[in-house]
Amino acid sequence: MKLSPKVRAMNLARYYRITADPVRFAEYKKKCKESKRKRMQDPEYRAKMWAYQRDYRKRRRETDPEYAQKTKEWSLQGNRRKTKHRLEQLFAIYGNKCVCCGEGNLQFLTLDHINNDGNLDRANHKNDRTHRTQMNAILHPDRSRYQILCFNCNLGKVRNKGVCPHKTGDEK
Ligand SMILES: [Zn+2]
Ligand SMILES: [Zn+2]
Repeated sequence: MKLSPKVRAMNLARYYRITADPVRFAEYKKKCKESKRKRMQDPEYRAKMWAYQRDYRKRRRETDPEYAQKTKEWSLQGNRRKTKHRLEQLFAIYGNKCVCCGEGNLQFLTLDHINNDGNLDRANHKNDRTHRTQMNAILHPDRSRYQILCFNCNLGKVRNKGVCPHKTGDEK
């Protein structure tokens, strides 16, 4: 629908009158949000909007390198935030420290399979195995299978036939 310049100017003037008044503006925003929420409940409309947004972002990435760079960074940041959140959840469930040496710095910690049966988890998932294993350990906490080790003890355990050298005294 194309509006005449006169009507558009009137609409704009009305919009400015509303935005100038904090109370009316707050009401206006609330109304907009509500009507958008209603429209988004329609699956057809929602799919249409998402497709449009996808296309728009794609077109813009192709024509605007700055935007492309920015969105790349946003997605990286989002991934990092999610990873951090996931690990924090995971470590909190299993005690927040290395069960062997007591290392408490989360940056050093990792999930360990107590019975060295990580291959079972890995076989269940084709892609994204670390992520999925961690999610599984969060959603179905199993302290007989999972524990927290620091990378040091984890690697020591791998090299020392499944037992951390701290435990066998073979580190010398
Ligand atoms: Zn340790
Ligand atoms: Zn150890």
